[in-house]
Amino acid sequence: MKNATMIVDGKPAESDTRRDAVNPYTGEVWATFPEATHEDVDRAVNAARRAFQGGWSSSSGAERARLMHALADRLESEADAMARMESTDNGKVIRETRNQMGFAARNLRFFAGYADKLYGRTIPLDNPGLFDFTRRRPHGVAALITAWNSPIALLANKLPPALAAGNTVVVKPSEHASVTTCEFGRMAIDAGLPPGVVNVVTGGPEVGDALVGHPGIDKISFTGGTPTGARIAESAGRRLVPVTLELGGKSPNIVFDDADLDRAVVGAVAGIFAAAGQTCIAGSRLLVQRSVYPEVVDAITKRAAAIRLGDPLDASTEMGPVANRPQFERIVKLIEKGKQEGATLLTGGGPATGPDLADGLFIAPTVFGEVSPGMRIASEEVFGPVLSVIPFDGEEEAVEIANGVEYGLAAAVWSRDIERVHRVVDRLEAGSVWVNTYRTNAAQAPFGGIKSSGYGRERGEEALAEYTFVQNVMVDYSGAARDPFSIKT
Ligand code: NAD
Repeated sequence: MKNATMIVDGKPAESDTRRDAVNPYTGEVWATFPEATHEDVDRAVNAARRAFQGGWSSSSGAERARLMHALADRLESEADAMARMESTDNGKVIRETRNQMGFAARNLRFFAGYADKLYGRTIPLDNPGLFDFTRRRPHGVAALITAWNSPIALLANKLPPALAAGNTVVVKPSEHASVTTCEFGRMAIDAGLPPGVVNVVTGGPEVGDALVGHPGIDKISFTGGTPTGARIAESAGRRLVPVTLELGGKSPNIVFDDADLDRAVVGAVAGIFAAAGQTCIAGSRLLVQRSVYPEVVDAITKRAAAIRLGDPLDASTEMGPVANRPQFERIVKLIEKGKQEGATLLTGGGPATGPDLADGLFIAPTVFGEVSPGMRIASEEVFGPVLSVIPFDGEEEAVEIANGVEYGLAAAVWSRDIERVHRVVDRLEAGSVWVNTYRTNAAQAPFGGIKSSGYGRERGEEALAEYTFVQNVMVDYSGAARDPFSIKT
């Protein structure tokens, strides 16, 4: 049994109460972690404040980069163990969690590269006696709150740009998957980051709420559900704290009849069945042009039915269990809703059981055909392996259906017609658009949503803007006397 600890002020931190971490494959408690009190949150924020003022924000970018590379080295050297822990905690298959650890280290290195390149601008003004320049300054203490589906990968979108820019952080992972984030906090100490630069507090929504509402927080970055994001934005709004929100999605994967259909089917599988559909960017709506609809639906149904379910720690498993019981129940309920609403169930349709599935929270890969845009399974985020296939006739209708939901996180277009691709991309309401691919990402490429999927950007150079404010400095070197009662331009 692993007993994870929080990290506060460079040291492991305990709490009187502990929570269980349940393995969704076996149903067993495999670890415990502390439930932070308000005092713990307070101590973490104060430690982060001291570290911010005590040297981190004024350290050289080169020094911050060195320590971030050391943390990346550490993460790489423990990547296998971390991947195993994460797969045990949330049921995500090891072939993906291994990759995610590598990607997290890559993000650390990418943003380490910016730490000594946070340039401002010199700005020529109308008045030649004034010299103007800008600087990028860190906000201060950032609260980083993540969801359970990919704790380290989500943290790796936030923490690297925050540290590179000179902020210190208090991290709160989800109560459904906290252990690897505690380990990450321990690695930050091992890598030599000064005490208080990276703090980790664990626990449920009350802990998140205490962190968000703490007067010592200067910036919030949140990944999670849209209702929680809205609550956090409200709380932050009362104190005018800047917020980055990465929320839910109902992303359309649009297949036109001129697409390479084999690749489109693989993209559709990647979109909805990878990670058992528990990704914000899940391509949960497959829009297929009617002329190729039978062919595409047939191929995706066959592939879905053949997906290898099993132990997430087995490298050959394609889909593991869903991460926790509330999520499992929610998915089952939405599948039932799809049946009641009259969508055609093509494969799956509920929990999956079998000799290799232990007591796991497995949902059979589910495909609904002839879904109409008004159905709940076509508009609500399921966050599970449930695909809604929606037929369309032409470009206009495809765009209308694609944009007809409250979310705007991601979308994909499958077509060989370059003119059509640009026409459609131009009109899609989504922060990320893929063309002839799905669920690919890169440290350099900005990511984030619009509409109910949130605001702000992670990854790419854009992420640095989330963790800095621009300070403009105007210097009068004219030596001239001025009229004190009229603004000088
Ligand atoms: P959630 O909103 O329930 O919880 C997310 C985090 O917020 C957890 O750490 C939780 O403890 C904390 N929290 C809950 N209530 C809080 C409050 N009042 N104040 C502060 N913190 C609070 O989401 P979840 O169920 O963990 O994750 C699933 C959701 O996350 C899905 O909607 C999914 O789309 C979204 N998600 C988005 C992205 C993205 O990048 N856009 C990535 C992954 C997941």
